Amino acid sequence: MILKYLLIIGVFVAIYFYLFKKKPITHTQSKERDNDAKKDKTKSSDMVECATCGIYCELDDAILSVNKYYCSSECLKNAK
Ligand SMILES: [Zn+2]
Repeated sequence: MILKYLLIIGVFVAIYFYLFKKKPITHTQSKERDNDAKKDKTKSSDMVECATCGIYCELDDAILSVNKYYCSSECLKNAK
């Protein structure tokens, strides 16, 4: 009877640890995937228009000055 009782407890403990271990792992994995997807989206789709020449360039390459984007330092100088 005691062995049976221990076996049931063992099963419950195993289920508890299985769920407890599995949940955080899947959560972090999906979170990392979301972050990667967001990074890829912003890299590929965020294009800004140069305030001086009107050329669209990537946000990472654009120069931000007084809430306006410029494609190069030359355009930034011409705007001032
Ligand atoms: Zn420009």
